[in-house]
Amino acid sequence: MTVSVPVEYEVTLPDGKKFEQPAGLFINNEFVKSVSGKTIDSINPATGEVNGSVYAAEAEDVDIAVDAARTAFKSWKKVSGVDRGKLLFKFADEFEKQQALLSSIEAWDSGKTKDQNAIYDVEECIAVFRYYAGWADKIQGKLIQNDAKKLAYTVHEPFGVCGQIIPWNYPLLMAAWKLAPALAAGNVVVLKTSELTPLSLLYVAKIFKKVGFPPGVVNILSGYGATAGKSLASHLGVDKIAFTGSTATGKLIQQAASANLKAVTLECGGKSPLIVRSDADIEQAVKWAAIGIMSNQGQICTSTSRIYVHEDIHDEFVEQYKAHVIADYKQGEMFDGDAVVGPQVSKVQHDKILNYISIGKEEGAKIVLGGEKNTDGALSKGYFIKPTIFTEVQPHMRIVNEEIFGPVVVVGKFKTDEEVVKYANSTQYGLGAAIFTKDITVAHNMASDIEAGMVWINSSNDSDIHIPFGGVKLSGVGRELGEYGLSMYTQAKAVHVNLGTRL
Ligand code: NAD
Repeated sequence: MTVSVPVEYEVTLPDGKKFEQPAGLFINNEFVKSVSGKTIDSINPATGEVNGSVYAAEAEDVDIAVDAARTAFKSWKKVSGVDRGKLLFKFADEFEKQQALLSSIEAWDSGKTKDQNAIYDVEECIAVFRYYAGWADKIQGKLIQNDAKKLAYTVHEPFGVCGQIIPWNYPLLMAAWKLAPALAAGNVVVLKTSELTPLSLLYVAKIFKKVGFPPGVVNILSGYGATAGKSLASHLGVDKIAFTGSTATGKLIQQAASANLKAVTLECGGKSPLIVRSDADIEQAVKWAAIGIMSNQGQICTSTSRIYVHEDIHDEFVEQYKAHVIADYKQGEMFDGDAVVGPQVSKVQHDKILNYISIGKEEGAKIVLGGEKNTDGALSKGYFIKPTIFTEVQPHMRIVNEEIFGPVVVVGKFKTDEEVVKYANSTQYGLGAAIFTKDITVAHNMASDIEAGMVWINSSNDSDIHIPFGGVKLSGVGRELGEYGLSMYTQAKAVHVNLGTRL
């Protein structure tokens, strides 16, 4: 689409907040129109109406942004760790001042409920920037001494230009997880947002400029995957690519990145199991199992979307689980202060989830809650799907094996630990897994046997910015968060010093 929009325009949000929404591509600290003039409409998930339009980057714009970043890297790489850290701390402070507005923009654009969901994402963004700001002056190599006549040491150097491609389910948070370690380690960035949720990060771009990041160090592009995303992933001027999104796209990114053998980090899809043994604290299991799939409308890569309950406690668990979801997961639009579950992000996702619900019914699974679109009053205009629980599922069913990415969970039964570990691993994915038991030995043995990048014992989805996040198998490669996440943004250079006459 091509419509002429100013590169910034005034917006009034449903909660009355007024602000200047940028619409341009953020390159060299300026908002500019795309070369083609093409734009993307951002749709309000609660109404289906257009929230606003932004310029869409294509290959030429990616070239311009990468050039800007390469130029900026020449001086940014000489900035000391202390000074990078100071800038990141300053950025986090300013981000914090804008917390309320950013929560509202994020909710408006993505469908997250503001008070029960978006606000926590923004809080975590601030924490992530502060965490990595603290690391900026603590990036150290090693001294390696094997031979008295040889001194060797490593320097952990930044890659240079990092391309970053993020999804729509956590637009601010996925950006924070990538930008903060990349910048702390001395890289420069060209980041592409999802075409479905471009608004909040464009506003954040203003903060980078305001606190004094030099032009070209952070560049933010709105744009489609098949054009801007593909150009970024294959660009010869990009040294590393970090991606969060679907496994199908992750495979394309890895292929595109082979153009210049870029370093690649991929955080992809999942179908994470949650196991409830007969000795578990059922009340706790119920609460975490609900957080694990019903929060963020089930649009969580690590959502524990397959629950396996021991046959002795299955019926009791299902009864309590259903009652808890009804009581604590009210559905409503984003600015309804009591609502926890908002609309799905887009019509495409909404239709995809309803289709999976039909497939589940046809496959013979039983719906004990939800299983349909929410058509109550004004919600009928939006992409609202009722929290849905399927029971009586079989291992071969598509709803048990495929990522639905909505508030839809399947609950199966098991008899033995061996059987349930087999179920847990019978997937191409390997992102998260949760185990509920009071037996500490069984818990650790299961954690060891389950093929996943993260295992929670007696909780689910309680990720923590200090602890590495990522998957195995088709869920991805590399890790984000914590010190491991920082290590993905440096590479070791070895320096050998001959201390004598070794020849
Ligand atoms: P997606 O793969 O469709 O898109 C993700 C991003 O990739 C978007 O910015 C998109 O524009 C871009 N893209 C699409 N095609 C591209 C191409 N050919 N080349 C380059 N870029 C391209 O995923 P989505 O629908 O936005 O997000 C949902 C998926 O993301 C789910 O599968 C979910 O599990 C996964 N996810 C994973 C994590 C994780 O950390 N593991 C976190 C959030 C989401």
